[in-house]
Amino acid sequence: MARVAYVNRRFLPLPAARVHIEDRGFQFADGVYEVIPVQEGRLIEEAGHMDRLGRSLHELRMPWPTTRRVMALVMRELVRRNRLREGIIYLQVTRGSSPRDFRFPPDPAPTLVITARSQVLGPQRLVEDGVGVITIPDIRWKRRDIKSVSLLPQVLGKQRAAEAGAYEAWMVDEDGFVTEGTSSNAWIVNREGVLVTRQANHMILRGVTRQAVLRLLAEEGRGLEERPFTVDEAYQAREAFLTSSSNYVMPVTRIDDRSVGNGKPGSLVLKLRDLYVAYATGRTS
Ligand code: PMP
Repeated sequence: MARVAYVNRRFLPLPAARVHIEDRGFQFADGVYEVIPVQEGRLIEEAGHMDRLGRSLHELRMPWPTTRRVMALVMRELVRRNRLREGIIYLQVTRGSSPRDFRFPPDPAPTLVITARSQVLGPQRLVEDGVGVITIPDIRWKRRDIKSVSLLPQVLGKQRAAEAGAYEAWMVDEDGFVTEGTSSNAWIVNREGVLVTRQANHMILRGVTRQAVLRLLAEEGRGLEERPFTVDEAYQAREAFLTSSSNYVMPVTRIDDRSVGNGKPGSLVLKLRDLYVAYATGRTS
């Protein structure tokens, strides 16, 4: 079945969907995006993703391309037209197309592109052994809280990870503290058994999955520390994992060339994953 995309008020077959060559997203990465997971045809954490989109737009002084309500309807229609059961919706807004000039166009007409893709979320086959990460310097700009399409450092990082046989790269700030993965948030259970993840400020993206896991932890009465952790603390951790919309909660069992704990997914990460999957699929058992 041909995939259907939505581009500036029109549903089109993917090969026919186009944006202008002077689109500012193409020329300046002047745009923002969201990836919304779809499970059993339902959008997971839609409100969280739309809130974050609104915040990203606001921070870049970009207008909403249409109302939230229209976006919600379009996303549902795309799920329907693509017969999507499990996968992702990709939504991108740019400052539109205009003759190339760094300054904002005087009357911006944002570009809105939404696509849908079928994909296994939080693949169970990776959970049994967990995944490996490498650590790399974080060379990004200082507003990582904005979900901008300026993703070159993440592209290079993910490629380096793939070439090293790893699943993800954890980026490390100038003081030796892990910021986050190229497309996921980073967590450890340290040697003392304390669950640690970096606080969400300008230095990392406030993951929607991260927020959901924090809520689940609070419901379980499980404490944690929101603070930076070093690569060394991660090397010595009992458990490690990453969270993202497309990975859910994924055990990390290797960091660089070292095994995490006994090299198997830890008990807390597996429990959190079960809780999250139950939540995402709407099942409670
Ligand atoms: N950090 C970065 C840099 C990301 O790109 C992503 C993926 N959007 C995440 C964290 C995880 O965010 P979420 O849980 O909202 O997918």
